[in-house]
Amino acid sequence: MVFVLKPDVARDRIDAFIYKLESDGFSTILSTGTEHTVICLIGNTAKVDVDHIVQTNDIVEYGKRVTEPFKAVNRIVHPDNTTVTVGNVSIGEGYFTVISGPCSVESEEQILEIAKSVQRSGATIMRGGVFKPRTSPYSFQGLQAEGLKMLLTAKKATGLPIVTEIMNQTQIPLLDEVDIIQIGARNMQNFDLLKEVGKCKKPILLKRGLANTIEELLMSAEYIMSEGNEQVILCERGIRTFETMTRNTLDLSAIPLLKQKSHLPVIVDPSHAAGIRSLVAPLAKAAMAVGADGLMIEAHNDPSKALCDGAQSLDLKQFEELMVDLRRRALFEGKKL
Ligand code: PEP
Ligand code: MN
Repeated sequence: MVFVLKPDVARDRIDAFIYKLESDGFSTILSTGTEHTVICLIGNTAKVDVDHIVQTNDIVEYGKRVTEPFKAVNRIVHPDNTTVTVGNVSIGEGYFTVISGPCSVESEEQILEIAKSVQRSGATIMRGGVFKPRTSPYSFQGLQAEGLKMLLTAKKATGLPIVTEIMNQTQIPLLDEVDIIQIGARNMQNFDLLKEVGKCKKPILLKRGLANTIEELLMSAEYIMSEGNEQVILCERGIRTFETMTRNTLDLSAIPLLKQKSHLPVIVDPSHAAGIRSLVAPLAKAAMAVGADGLMIEAHNDPSKALCDGAQSLDLKQFEELMVDLRRRALFEGKKL
């Protein structure tokens, strides 16, 4: 249940209203946007009379039941779009933000060359996996702590904020200098991990699971937000379907739907969705056309020798060409790239 407050209500009156609701055994989420102040009531609201509360509290404009199970991520609770900021980079309203880099950090030379090149092409955040969730235990597992050092060297050399994937909560202290923590598709429903990153003070990039619904993705974001971390970026990266010619099927309808249901920024990873290099550019353009706030694209200096996901990685020239095309389209969409 949410209560939208009248404009310009004094803070002590809001606090008194919250105190009264909480004394009745509910917890609350206060959302102060640029245009709306909203209080969300959480608990068993079945017996609560919305109209009575509206009529007896003159600071309340109107009240409404939220029937969906996700509250903090719900657009009804937070009508304004959320913008996530790292350094001087914004992800959200008015921006189209491109994250790029290799699937995995392989050496210092590799990550430096790729970082400098994607930065020249216009990427404003760099990616690189060091803890890799691989289907086979015999595949390359990432350079782990050593790889992290290389990633941080590339961050220092370029000034680009970095995003890397976490596999379990014991790695949180290692990621102190990482700007965005990625929860990969395979961990989207690792609820203990979601709760722990919910206590972190940095943005979380939450990828949709291989076989998870849109509602399940939103509920996972709810886990993070309910621990107090409001900086969540959602990522559609393709889901499993009966199709075998692509690695996954990019669910384009998830993007406008997520943006209707939630206030969180939504980005798209066309690389893991397609698994095929030649599909990355067309899917990236489609993502922009349906309203994504940005992209995460795998790029490599020599995809044929990549230790992971070479077949879906763009080479540095292809990435540059895609960025030229995207910049032109961003102008049409009225977004900053
Ligand atoms: C990745 O981004 O490197 C990755 C492993 O992606 P996903 O979790 O979407 O498979
Ligand atoms: Mn990959």
